[in-house]
Amino acid sequence: MIERIYIHYPFCKRICYYCDFYKVRYKKEYEKAYLEKLKKEIKEIKKTYKIKPLSSLYLGGGSPSIASYSFFDLVFSSFSLKSNSEVSLEVNIEDISKDFLSLIKNYPINRISLGIQNFKEKYSNFLGRNIDVKLIYKALELISKNFENLSLDLLILGLEKDEFEENKKILKDVLEKFNIKHISLYILTIYKNTYLYKKYSNIKRNYIDLTYQKYQKFLKENFFFQYEVSNFAKPNFLCQHNLAYWLFENYLGLGPSASSLIKIKGDFISKVNENKLDYDFKFEKINFETYLYFRFRTFFGVPFRYLKNKKFLKDFLDKNLITLDNKNIKVTSKGYLFLDYIFNRLFI
Ligand code: SF4
Repeated sequence: MIERIYIHYPFCKRICYYCDFYKVRYKKEYEKAYLEKLKKEIKEIKKTYKIKPLSSLYLGGGSPSIASYSFFDLVFSSFSLKSNSEVSLEVNIEDISKDFLSLIKNYPINRISLGIQNFKEKYSNFLGRNIDVKLIYKALELISKNFENLSLDLLILGLEKDEFEENKKILKDVLEKFNIKHISLYILTIYKNTYLYKKYSNIKRNYIDLTYQKYQKFLKENFFFQYEVSNFAKPNFLCQHNLAYWLFENYLGLGPSASSLIKIKGDFISKVNENKLDYDFKFEKINFETYLYFRFRTFFGVPFRYLKNKKFLKDFLDKNLITLDNKNIKVTSKGYLFLDYIFNRLFI
């Protein structure tokens, strides 16, 4: 039974220097080919799986904010939604206009995830995004007039000691002016196949942990609850779709480079679409440690009964890296910095 779907729209107007996702520079004829394939895939999955009215639908990219009417028409005519369904759309700042917003208001989209990454122009330029703060404010003003549930994506570069201080002033102002409900805070990874790697592979990044901790503290002071290593939300605005991923609920991913997860006879099976427009599926069985690891990243933690090695427990508790709460072992905000280290010692 499926009630969560992710759809990958793989086109972008321009390519960011750090981007490791599967994406293709937009061309009308490519989008046409993609939509034909997506239509077939939807038909296929409907034959194979029982799809219930969706609890959540996530339209991610690429840049679905440059998609045509045909994309949205196809998606929303293919699936029915529950009355309280969470429907998220990833958008790029430069695509936000009154026309775009009136297009998407025709559809039951109720959550916007806005890719900001960095407020400061110098960092934005480093990432190949070249977005200035005026454009960010303009986008925020337009979106917040139309959508209540707004999430921001931010990226920690870890290049300079003052990175957080430079962003903080603007972020503080943004939080005061706009009612932001959710923030995803990622640490920049410099992947080998990116332009950033070619240009800056030797760059020193000494301030990642410091910057992450400063953001954690700041967001807490501003009433955001950290519910996962990279995600912070106001009460009642945790992303339901992502929570379902981390808790290994069934979901289907459609489009190139989308993954799915289905529980079959007690086993978790993941399906990954190949990274090309004319994609096929690969299936993989997921091991139990992966399931525990995903849970450990969240505020739910891992049930105590799965503890494999008691040797480190006291030490981690004394150092305030974990807590024991309601029979679950949970990572603390300090512990998030050492997530993999702690997990490997307790559960592997
Ligand atoms: S980061 Fe997003 S907008 Fe930038 S190239 Fe990658 S998919 Fe496109």
